[in-house]
Amino acid sequence: MEKLLEKFTDKYLVMKNNMKNLIKVLSLVFLFGACDSNESTDKKIEDFKSLKLIDRIEPPNWWAGMKTLELQLLVYGAGINDLVPRINNSNIELKSINKTENPNYLFLDILISENSNPDNVEIDFYRDDILVDRYNFELKKREENAKNIEGFTTSDVMYLITPDRFANGDLSNDDIEEMRERPDRNNSFGLHGGDIQGVINNLDYIKEMGFTTVWLNPVLENNMERASYHGYSTTDYYKIDPRFGTNELFKELGLKSKEMGIKLVMDMIPNHCGSFHWFFTDPPMLNWFNNQNEFKQTSHRRETVQDIYASEIDKKEHADGWFVETMPDLNQKNPIVSKYLIQNAIWWTEFAGLAGIRVDTYPYSDKDFMTDWTYALMNEYPNYNIVGEEWADTPTIISYWQRGKVNHDGYVSYLPTLMDFPLQMAFNESLTDGFRYGMGFRKPYRSLASDFLYPDPNNLLVFPDNHDMARFFTQVNKDIDLFKMGIVFYATIRGIPQFYYGTEILMSPDEKRPGNHGLVRTEFPGGWPDHIKNAFTGENLTDEELEIQSFFKKLLNWRKNNNVIHNGKLIQFAPKDEVYSYFRILDDKMVWVILNRNNSSKILKTERFTELISEKKFAYDLLNDNRISILDDIIVEKKSALILEIE
Ligand code: CA
Repeated sequence: MEKLLEKFTDKYLVMKNNMKNLIKVLSLVFLFGACDSNESTDKKIEDFKSLKLIDRIEPPNWWAGMKTLELQLLVYGAGINDLVPRINNSNIELKSINKTENPNYLFLDILISENSNPDNVEIDFYRDDILVDRYNFELKKREENAKNIEGFTTSDVMYLITPDRFANGDLSNDDIEEMRERPDRNNSFGLHGGDIQGVINNLDYIKEMGFTTVWLNPVLENNMERASYHGYSTTDYYKIDPRFGTNELFKELGLKSKEMGIKLVMDMIPNHCGSFHWFFTDPPMLNWFNNQNEFKQTSHRRETVQDIYASEIDKKEHADGWFVETMPDLNQKNPIVSKYLIQNAIWWTEFAGLAGIRVDTYPYSDKDFMTDWTYALMNEYPNYNIVGEEWADTPTIISYWQRGKVNHDGYVSYLPTLMDFPLQMAFNESLTDGFRYGMGFRKPYRSLASDFLYPDPNNLLVFPDNHDMARFFTQVNKDIDLFKMGIVFYATIRGIPQFYYGTEILMSPDEKRPGNHGLVRTEFPGGWPDHIKNAFTGENLTDEELEIQSFFKKLLNWRKNNNVIHNGKLIQFAPKDEVYSYFRILDDKMVWVILNRNNSSKILKTERFTELISEKKFAYDLLNDNRISILDDIIVEKKSALILEIE
């Protein structure tokens, strides 16, 4: 019933749109009739502009001096495909005009001149040789050094924020009348009111904690009926959701972050949009979406991408099926769709000065399209970074997607970074594992031993948890010692660490229902005026929460200036008796991390490590602020981690 209703609503919207078209056409006829031939052209333009034949052009602007010079403009408006666009400007040449089966669209191929200057380029639209609309397509001036923007690297620590749940910096945008969903803070899947202003207001907190990069869950318009807080069902690719703020505010976040030395990462979803996306309601082409715009569930069999035995039907059911019914699957094999999505990613990067992108559901997209998409971005911004989500438990699958990998099927990827799910699963399991053979630290040890599969193992995102799984503190059964051990591991092992907001104060609101999304993404204490607890000021936090917050602060700020952790070589020693240790080494610097997950303290004989520390006598124990001898034995307390800076 619900589905029928939704369908009816969609059809109604199309009808409504067609009515709008008719009214516009009629008004035009009226205007033409009424026009005095002596009337000035300007007056006519004013009249016709008030009709707004062209609803939108995407991308709405571009920048002068970019590498991407061949653009495709999507022109949308009721019954506009008989209009003849003309451009008379030395900066832009109109190469071709393409029509589709839907009369409400035109696609223009334009070429921006290599030596273009910032300019307002007029695109004139004619009907029967009469100018009926004009669009000012701005070629903006690029921010200084925009092309050299530095992506996130191993020197960074990423802070993942769910914008609806972090901080409500603007109470006035909580309830927007035109949007389909009303706020409801009593519902864990409802809108809670957090926004971009909330992130801007707390950049100093983020910085002080030692985080250097912010990844926001999607912030584009997500005008869905339910659970729109999570942002993963885009309904407008060029507009920030008004509950989160405006495009200009997002740009401000980009600028302010940069000023504070914090890099901004945008979450993008090229695989699908939301079923209330305006172009799903009125599709430009019959094959704009996979499966002829009709819902067909993906099989989620991602392994079909690599499987040398995979059947064609399995490959198709995985890649062309929809993620869920409310997320129509974009047909990226259609070159117009592909170009639309590529330009959109470049547009946001340039617009907000992004330092990178996190790509949702990476292997669900057409893989050749993802090659084009990442190539275009990395070509435009050579120092950029992009991290893709492939939730697989083995490096054999993950490594397939990394730039530089020589693959069995010849597939070439340009994706620099991947989320290291295999290590996350192996390490987190090991913390709560039994003590029998093959269990415990053997798992992360073995996962890291497979790093030879990666062309660039340092470019992996390492994390204890994220917005899609149980909170880390929940995962370790609220054992604070195991929790700390985990944080040390993720902050010192190779890769780029990422922590989810609230981990720094032991948030585990999903303890009774581990992994429940609405609960996992709970409000950050202090983010709303009625909160009694405030993690930004420390007010009413428990002693334990305060202790962990300072633990994070110390660890991350230490990491910030430690090149040996960013780029040092990793040497690991096979775990014995569930004591696992590894070194990070760079030039004359050496850091030794030792993890003991036993319920008793252990004495580590340093003799076994002479290949690295034979000449060394002392080390600085960072977490206990203590200088210790490493000549013979090191005592490692039960369920604890040591970070030793070898002198
Ligand atoms: Ca708000």
